[in-house]
Amino acid sequence: MRRTPSRLSDGREIIYFDRDGAPPRTAVDERGLDEGAAIGEVRYDVMTGEWIAIAGHRQTRTHLPAASECPLCPTVDGRLSEIPESSYDVVVFENRFPSLRAPEGEWELPEPGLDAVAPAAGRCEVVCFSADHDGSFTKLTPAQARLVIDAWTDRTAALSALPYVRQVFPFENRGVEIGVTLHHPHGQIYGYSYLPPRIVRLIEQDRSHRARGRRGLIADVIAREAADGRRLVFRSQHWIAFVPFAARWPFEVQLHPLRAGVHDFTELTDAERDELATVYPRLLRAFDALLGVTMPYVAGWFQAPCNGPADERDAVTLHLQLQSNRRAPNKLKYPAGSEMSMWAYISDVPPEQSAQLLREAWERA
Ligand SMILES: [Zn+2]
Repeated sequence: MRRTPSRLSDGREIIYFDRDGAPPRTAVDERGLDEGAAIGEVRYDVMTGEWIAIAGHRQTRTHLPAASECPLCPTVDGRLSEIPESSYDVVVFENRFPSLRAPEGEWELPEPGLDAVAPAAGRCEVVCFSADHDGSFTKLTPAQARLVIDAWTDRTAALSALPYVRQVFPFENRGVEIGVTLHHPHGQIYGYSYLPPRIVRLIEQDRSHRARGRRGLIADVIAREAADGRRLVFRSQHWIAFVPFAARWPFEVQLHPLRAGVHDFTELTDAERDELATVYPRLLRAFDALLGVTMPYVAGWFQAPCNGPADERDAVTLHLQLQSNRRAPNKLKYPAGSEMSMWAYISDVPPEQSAQLLREAWERA
């Protein structure tokens, strides 16, 4: 892998991740962009104990442009995009409309309270998986998927080193049904300056699990699913995938490394990364094979928090949470009264049944 860092015309960082032997990446961004938008806020919701990022400046961001106007395609025929090069393998750059960005000077998350507010510190990056506008993660070769994994690893290390970042979250939203605003195959990486609610919960659950004399919670969940087998989707040499015992969505899968104690992408071995580059695109193809339609999904990578206490870090190991809101070829599940108001999920598909369908789809994928 060859890594080439550069800057866009407004000072944002851009980094090319290329296979060895790719053309050199020396093109200059000729757009002369103005300095980006102002920083937003994080406010504390005292009724739930959660931080909420408020970024009013993002309403003008690009929304479902025509393929000929795609900002994530390479720059060709004089049409200047976000990527100055005329080709690329994988490229990462800072989001032009970030909800979280580098703070000015010293920054600290305030104590929770009725009026707790702070600049929305953090980092938002875009990861283009391929220069092919009509491509998708499901179509990536293992070598190309491996470049994406190398990019996630590089960015996890870099963002974890920022003192104001507490959680590095690589994710992909796919499909307009899930709210995608650009069709070009891409994902994002958020570096949060606070622990997201899902991670806070996981840490609390791990603490109470260990207080009952058990070992780590995630390790016990994996052991239970491996032994039970009814919700397994596949098990390979280094990875295991299953439908969660209490899945929220019609189709939902967790993918974990089998080796215990892998906190984040930086701790994977070469063999684990190589196998992930094969099994992950195949898992996404299995999703598409389920109902015979392209599935909308959210693919989110959980990693251990950074820049905090050791027991927080030990509570979370690297894993993927893949969720789709499609429950039938022409039916979507929307979060409504129970889910949106009460956060009380009601699932329409028994996890064992959805696992059976996923196992069959995995064989066809
Ligand atoms: Zn494109």
